Amino acid sequence: MSRRIQGTPGAGGVASGPLWRYRAAPESASAVGGPVGLVPPAVADAGDAPADPVEAIRAAAAEAARQLESLAERVRGLGRGEEAGIFEAQAMMALDPELLDEAVARAEAGEAAEAAVAGAAEKASAVLAALPDELLAARAADVRDVGARIVRILRGESLVLPDQPSIAVADDLPPSIAAEIPPGLLLGVALAGGSATAHAVILARGLGIPAIVGALGLVEAAVSATAIAMDGNSGELVLDPDAGEMAEFKARAVLLAERRGAAASLRGRPGATSDGQRVILLANIGGPQDAARALEAGAEGVGLFRTEFLFMSRQTAPSEAEQIEPYRRVFEAFGPDRQVVVRLADIGGDKALPYLNLPAEANPFLGVRAIRLAYRSRELLAAQLRAIWRAAGRAGVTPHVMAPMVATLADVELLLELRDEARASVAASGDPLPERMVTGVMIEVPSAAIMAPEMARIVDFFSIGTNDLTQYTLAADRGNPALGRLQDGLHPAVLRLIAGVVAGAGAAGIPVAVCGELAGDPLGAAVLVGLGVDELSADAGSLDGVRAALAGVTRAQAVDLARRALAAGDAATVRAMARDLVG
Ligand code: PEP
Ligand code: MG
Repeated sequence: MSRRIQGTPGAGGVASGPLWRYRAAPESASAVGGPVGLVPPAVADAGDAPADPVEAIRAAAAEAARQLESLAERVRGLGRGEEAGIFEAQAMMALDPELLDEAVARAEAGEAAEAAVAGAAEKASAVLAALPDELLAARAADVRDVGARIVRILRGESLVLPDQPSIAVADDLPPSIAAEIPPGLLLGVALAGGSATAHAVILARGLGIPAIVGALGLVEAAVSATAIAMDGNSGELVLDPDAGEMAEFKARAVLLAERRGAAASLRGRPGATSDGQRVILLANIGGPQDAARALEAGAEGVGLFRTEFLFMSRQTAPSEAEQIEPYRRVFEAFGPDRQVVVRLADIGGDKALPYLNLPAEANPFLGVRAIRLAYRSRELLAAQLRAIWRAAGRAGVTPHVMAPMVATLADVELLLELRDEARASVAASGDPLPERMVTGVMIEVPSAAIMAPEMARIVDFFSIGTNDLTQYTLAADRGNPALGRLQDGLHPAVLRLIAGVVAGAGAAGIPVAVCGELAGDPLGAAVLVGLGVDELSADAGSLDGVRAALAGVTRAQAVDLARRALAAGDAATVRAMARDLVG
């Protein structure tokens, strides 16, 4: 009998096919419910393995690093730069002296090599996992995954990959496992755990396959299932679908393929409504490795360059000199005519990096984070601003910069001061300097939205972070799958704040962008444009859908939709209204 489960949409698309189950724990070879992703060695190869457990651990860690490096090289060759970065970081984790010293100490104290590695990896990841931040939680999963790989090598186990096109079902699917699956054999990813920002979701978006996360009870329910149908746009999945359900999902897939084809055919055009109201479509990127994909997707520039990656996975803060090169590469990729908005590091608080030496906080999401760090020490953001000035000078472009987590006018004034001090310092060194730095703030804290009219008078632009603005407005942790229904930026409470921001910006004559997930959602895009937003910035893979949605509505239709949305009672009603218009 078929069984429906509702999860959270991760990556768009519709797929159906056989299940391929994966379980991460080193004990997984004995997992319940039939085939899992691992089998023990057919023939024990103890002859090749060093007898000394300490030597065996070091050899297995070196082999894990080698495997991860070659995986990175392979996916980079396929143009999947973001994933390659994850595997490169994991290769370094496999050789991390702290992890190895801990494993060796455990082995010397008498633990078996496998247990010593698993224990050391668990200890390292538990520290990260305890932090209520999605990025660090994802790194915790990466460390655990590296540990599992070393254990697998020690045991001589190998992965059993799907032998036919299948949908992966798991609690979580580490990218290093997913990337081992030849591209054509992975049709979709359905996870009981994870959040919309989990690595498996990033990977699915990169591959253009659907992903669903937070499908509670999925792994248990799927124990005896053989087939699955899934819709990554709605988050619905069906285990062992009957003929009628199979036909329903096949029809959805056909419709989606038609739409995607039509949307891709508009790629060379700039964003606009059907009657020519321009909407600038920009990409969100995480580093220079994402530039090519954004340009191919027809991005008119970068609306959000998240710079956190430069600050993570390190023992000390990156120096000014170390930062110049990645910024320059992004500026040069987009050239002087396409804006690139660099967001200052959104770290501290929930992303408590070891070198910041911050005291533990009871509520890190409400803690000393991002621009708030500069009240404690100006140097971190000052060095970043100097690096951006210098990189832009070398690339010959006018940089755009914005600060995240701005809550007060004092925060804005501090940003402007830091910017000017950084300029003076670079000027004194005689290096080439751009004329100006276009300076904005993210509006992602309700107080900033409310104070937008005052802030608009002293900055050059606003960029609304709907992910955090929704989280803080509805008091619903964005990483908590149990609160999925509260995490929709189309809630009228959020839209009313956005309308106020647009009005404040309009009075001062500055543009408003949206760079949260809502900007990449075709329904969200239509509402936002109707509210008067000028620019939308989203993952490169979402730009086709947004461009096509806007090309299908007039400005007046979008304005009318936004007016009705503001008067609605909840997000579901707004979504239904938008679907009626956009389809
Ligand atoms: C946001 O909060 O909407 C945003 C774009 O920033 P981040 O997702 O990096 O917090
Ligand atoms: Mg944010």
